[in-house]
Amino acid sequence: MHTNSKAYLFGGGIGSLAAAAFMIRDGNVPGPNISILEMAPVMGGSLDGAGDPIAGYSMRGGRMLTTDNYECTWDLYKSIPSLNHEGKSVFEETVEFNETHKSNAMARLLDKRRAKVPVASMGFSMQDRMELLKLSQTNEDTLAASCITDWLSPPFFETEFWYMWSTTFAFQPWHSAVEFKRYLLRFVLEFSRIETLAGVKRTIYNQYDSLVLPLQTWLRAQGVHLITDCKVTGLDHKIEDGAFIVTGIHCVRRGKNDVIPIDDDDLVFMQNASMTDASSLGSMTNAPPELTKADSGGWTLWEKLAAGRPEFGNPAAFNSSIAQACWESFTVTLKDPAFFDRMIEFSGNQPGTGGLVTFKDSNWLMSIVLAYQPHFRNQPAGVQVFWGYSLFPDRVGNFVPKPMAACNGAEILRELCGHLRFDLETVASANCIPCRMPYITSMFMPRVRGDRPLPVPRGSKNLAFVSQFVEITDDVVFTVEYSVRAAQIAVYELLEIDRAIPPVTPHAKSLHAQFDALIKAFQ
Ligand SMILES: Cc1cc2nc3c(=O)[nH]c(=O)nc-3n(C[C@H](O)[C@H](O)[C@H](O)COP(=O)(O)OP(=O)(O)OC[C@H]3O[C@@H](n4cnc5c(N)ncnc54)[C@H](O)[C@@H]3O)c2cc1C
Repeated sequence: MHTNSKAYLFGGGIGSLAAAAFMIRDGNVPGPNISILEMAPVMGGSLDGAGDPIAGYSMRGGRMLTTDNYECTWDLYKSIPSLNHEGKSVFEETVEFNETHKSNAMARLLDKRRAKVPVASMGFSMQDRMELLKLSQTNEDTLAASCITDWLSPPFFETEFWYMWSTTFAFQPWHSAVEFKRYLLRFVLEFSRIETLAGVKRTIYNQYDSLVLPLQTWLRAQGVHLITDCKVTGLDHKIEDGAFIVTGIHCVRRGKNDVIPIDDDDLVFMQNASMTDASSLGSMTNAPPELTKADSGGWTLWEKLAAGRPEFGNPAAFNSSIAQACWESFTVTLKDPAFFDRMIEFSGNQPGTGGLVTFKDSNWLMSIVLAYQPHFRNQPAGVQVFWGYSLFPDRVGNFVPKPMAACNGAEILRELCGHLRFDLETVASANCIPCRMPYITSMFMPRVRGDRPLPVPRGSKNLAFVSQFVEITDDVVFTVEYSVRAAQIAVYELLEIDRAIPPVTPHAKSLHAQFDALIKAFQ
């Protein structure tokens, strides 16, 4: 890349924002040479979070991070100044925050009697232990496109371990055995603390305010062009000496068609699909509309590009079944402390220390999280916000005779209060905004080698993929880390940067010994 070359990235999630920062910090690319094209009105992608006490707050997700993993994320955020504490980095402020607000869940699982389920034991039988060991020792080519249910028998899915692990990480029994194995290895340290979530680190506010905003502020100060309302619809390319070279980007910017010419020395970073593609919001009176990929276009580009080019992956492995990939979250804004007071009294946890509370017998498999307050930078005193989600929105509720997918915010609150045995008056002031995400676990769908392209696909001269749908050895999807690592790999490779990328920490080096010791301890 020459000093006057340009870099174009689309869309504007943490992956692209991180790639821009790595280009500037480690590749000496001038900020004004970089443009990020995002179809939404704001940057941040899945790390959204916005609202006010009147309209209600909303965020699609609430994130758990760790400092034992997330190597590339913290490598980045050690260089990004905090917006809250002058002279500190985002990494430093996050670590300090977690030193004073430690996770120690005391009501991780509740049963249908609203009793706290004892979780000191994982509930494994000898058969579960043997099957887990076998799965963890089988190589990825053998696991191939198999599902978790191909390796673990039905009783495993009734263990306390499964309820905690599946709701912490959003796994379903039909998901990829390869990805499940990778999670066991990557998060092996969580085994011994999954019942309290003691290893989990939180950001001070929601992740838009705590991760996106400071990074975006830094990029803007470097002169990066952050272009919103700009949807990329196609790429022109040529093949030269067998190499794939992007020559133009077609986009619709504020309703107008445009073509951005791309020189051979320019770089293009493409978002090949997103877990929040086609997501939609409801309200207290309306369920979210049921959108599909046809309504969003996010997947379409990858499908067009990959047709007939196996090196660009196989989107159909991930986007062919909404029934297996969809779930719903909801954000609740309260103007009366009654609900938080009851939860503190009942769970024994102050907001920000409890992690997930899961109703393990609920038909929807519902969980809620009460984060430290305020959870939004603009959230006034006297207003409280919490987030929840359900893994089975297609099932009829226990207290509302409807699938969650057909429920509005008021009905979701009725179901929640039913499980908690709280009077509806505790949520009388609540505004609950549901969010349907039809592709939220599409990254977990069974896959084979080659279904995901490399961050810089073989034969590509100036095109890279940055997303959750690229192949990175040993790392795990459904994490901020995966997109940031993809960004770092893509940037370093295309710019030939001679700086080591932080490796995936080998916590699982002695996995089998650890596994043995742990499962013996859980007998
Ligand atoms: C509910 C939920 C819970 C989560 N929990 C955790 C957690 O606990 N821990 C954790 O580490 N991670 C978690 N994650 C995952 C994490 O948020 C994501 O992995 C990460 O944010 C993905 O970033 P990305 O940049 O790859 O893609 P996204 O953030 O999805 O960004 C994609 C962007 O591309 C844009 N776009 C798509 N197509 C086009 C186009 N054609 N033209 C222009 N723009 C386009 C989209 O509008 C979007 O803004 C969670 C995510 C969700 C939704």
